[in-house]
Amino acid sequence: MLSNLDVLPMPAWDLINIYNYRSIWMRQQGYFSLNIATTRGCPFKCNWCAKPIYGNKYNTRDAVSVVAELYMLYTEYDACHFWVCDDIFGLKPGWVTEFNKLLKTTNIRPKLKIQSRADLLLKEDTIKNLIESGLDEVWMGAESGSQKVLDAMDKGTTVQQIYGATKLLKKHGAKVCLFLQYGYLGENASDIALTLKMVKDLLPHDIGISISYPLPGTGFYNKVKEQLKEKQNWTDSDDLAMLYSSTFSPKFYKYLYSYTHNFFHLQKNKYFLLNITKTISELNKNQFKIILKLPYYWLSQKLGKLKLIILQIN
Ligand code: SF4
Repeated sequence: MLSNLDVLPMPAWDLINIYNYRSIWMRQQGYFSLNIATTRGCPFKCNWCAKPIYGNKYNTRDAVSVVAELYMLYTEYDACHFWVCDDIFGLKPGWVTEFNKLLKTTNIRPKLKIQSRADLLLKEDTIKNLIESGLDEVWMGAESGSQKVLDAMDKGTTVQQIYGATKLLKKHGAKVCLFLQYGYLGENASDIALTLKMVKDLLPHDIGISISYPLPGTGFYNKVKEQLKEKQNWTDSDDLAMLYSSTFSPKFYKYLYSYTHNFFHLQKNKYFLLNITKTISELNKNQFKIILKLPYYWLSQKLGKLKLIILQIN
């Protein structure tokens, strides 16, 4: 596998009709966002993660070349937002500090959306450097609010780190989004309750939920492969399918997925209502919608809880 990524030329952005793409972004979102990649691979060992493209190695582009690419995209195509599609952004010690320093020598101020881990975010001045470099949104692989489940996954992070990193990032104004996963081996009702508690305590900007999926080649797959029946991959199952015999039924996990989304929206809307400082006449359309949806989320959550209890028994 190529380890020196700097021998590669700059991506051939000129080969695509970027102006058409830009006009769609501007029409839909009011700003233009592009993807860039600064690294390949991930050295961590979460035992359900396939990492099929770049494997366990982690290689980083030089910060100089990344800043040069951002500069070109910002000045030539007016892209002001970048979704960095690395598994893990800025893992190499000192990389984020150098990136921040270099970016400051330019006159561009891009906004960044990245993926990272709680333990890395808490290292030294990482959050400070990321914020100064324009961090707007970070998707953290939190997975679970239960330490028992994180340890079973070989995640290598702690619930305390997830809480610490989220609070610090939010304090600095970054949007924190959490990837969550349900249905891992040994996860029971109290572990699920801890994940819901984490969502309530941390009030992330957004959440992404998956159901544990045994991907061939992973340690998790090896543990459950005897239980896999006719459904073994995405051509004959969907991404919320529970393929092995977990604590609860497949129906339970499908329902837990929508229950958690409702629960999340209820907490966010409640928080908004409790902290509102405006009068009714000062609210805009979106803020009105948040308040109007509260009874719906409240009722859905009550009924959902009941349904989950019934599904647990069946
Ligand atoms: S889940 Fe994320 S941190 Fe864990 S191995 Fe996969 S890419 Fe790396």
